[in-house]
Amino acid sequence: MKLKIWLLSVISLLVFALVACSSGTNGNEANSDKLKVVTTYSIIYDIVNQIGGEKVEIHSLVPIGKNPHEYDPLPEDVMKMTDADAVFYNGLNLEEGGAWFNKLLKTADKSGENAPVYRVSEGVKPIYLETKGLEKEPDPHAWMNIENGILYAENVKKALIKEDPDNKEFYEKNAKEYIAELQKLHDDTLNKIQQLPEEKRFLISSEGAFKYFGNAYGINTGYIWEINSESQGTPDQIRDVVSLIETNNIPALFVETSVDKRSMETVSKETQVPIAGTIFTDSLGKPGEDGDTYLKMMKWNTETIINGLQE
Ligand SMILES: [Zn+2]
Repeated sequence: MKLKIWLLSVISLLVFALVACSSGTNGNEANSDKLKVVTTYSIIYDIVNQIGGEKVEIHSLVPIGKNPHEYDPLPEDVMKMTDADAVFYNGLNLEEGGAWFNKLLKTADKSGENAPVYRVSEGVKPIYLETKGLEKEPDPHAWMNIENGILYAENVKKALIKEDPDNKEFYEKNAKEYIAELQKLHDDTLNKIQQLPEEKRFLISSEGAFKYFGNAYGINTGYIWEINSESQGTPDQIRDVVSLIETNNIPALFVETSVDKRSMETVSKETQVPIAGTIFTDSLGKPGEDGDTYLKMMKWNTETIINGLQE
């Protein structure tokens, strides 16, 4: 009997020592408390990061600079997805277009009705594609209108509160401040684009990712191909955009960071119209570089577009 008590007290001392030791020397302890989040690409990553801050640990799938319409998940992605407390995706045919996302959800056992998977574009009024045969598919680039970005932020806030109600006030405060900044940028963007002479308001990009932007801020838009998941830069597409540029006397072209630039270079050569800058659509800039947050990328785009077109 005595031996048993002695053993028990030795064991509990050991356990106590181990726990004390690990919490004393290992700062990672707090990480296990964080809400584990997976986002499909960098723009959603940033919105969740602005609102979730130190309370969330985010794994973003599609690397910065790459196009989220298509992606081959890595084994690490499956692991993170399986472990995730919340998953955020754009929807509107972005990740589902290439079918990679639905497959990943299934593999990670997150495709059930009650899985914590959130579509951040919930509530957005979709704009549909115009390419023949694709007219029933929504254009996914809703975030290019900052008012939709505000909707994204609201949806992220609600989801974080649902999955982690203990930190409700924290998420609400961050979201409130962030949304105020987004609203200000939306107003500024509208103001600035409206100051461009009307005949100069024509934005040509490689992918047709600016419809939401064009509608929101009052600028015409044109493109070589409509969406990254279709064939890109075919002779027909080049011919059509060249004729659009010539008919409308468009003074400048733009190319996106997340696409192959060669098609736009061909268009520039054929029309003698310069490529006036690189803009962000489907990806943020690398951390520490231009456009490394959603706010900064949208600000950068507007400045670059205005500088290029008012020459
Ligand atoms: Zn795109």
